[in-house]
Amino acid sequence: MRIAVVAVQGAFREHELRLESLGVEWCELRQKRDLDQVYDALILPGGESTVQGKLLRELDMFDALKEQIQNKMPVLATCAGLILLADQLSNDERSYFRTLPVCVKRNAYGRQLGSFRTCEKFGELGNVPMTFIRAPYIERVAADANILAQVDSHIVAVQYQNQLALSFHPELDADLNIYKYFMDMIT
Ligand code: GLN
Repeated sequence: MRIAVVAVQGAFREHELRLESLGVEWCELRQKRDLDQVYDALILPGGESTVQGKLLRELDMFDALKEQIQNKMPVLATCAGLILLADQLSNDERSYFRTLPVCVKRNAYGRQLGSFRTCEKFGELGNVPMTFIRAPYIERVAADANILAQVDSHIVAVQYQNQLALSFHPELDADLNIYKYFMDMIT
């Protein structure tokens, strides 16, 4: 198994280190020709969604990535990555891949409370640590999307078909359960 980490901006290195802890092979997608590599799944890291969206378009990677996601390649998206997948943003005119049938609010916790840590139930996995950094949350999901975690009654993790999207940053915690969950989606 080989996982491609989109590496144009943001916290991609932390994901790579987590994959290494699991002994999973990875490669980086930094420019268009990197898309010719052979890989089984994608990671869209946290960072700044506006910058990532702009760079992916400028680097001419956007359409090919969207097509891979639409063709059911498993994708793990964290924070800004969730914003890139969302069908709609409630507080921003922009939209990106629009492959995930959810409505997301950017910077939803405001400036002061934008960053915090907690530990909450995640699907069948029990409690997992969750680190939020200027995080979005999910305001609405389509009926066929599976809500995996909520914090203070806001949705922070959802799975829809091949897409696993999180408001928080599993790459910043030692707990590997969410990565293992994603590996199960791939195999
Ligand atoms: N606030 C960022 C955005 O809107 C996301 C923050 C993050 O990825 N940690 O793109």
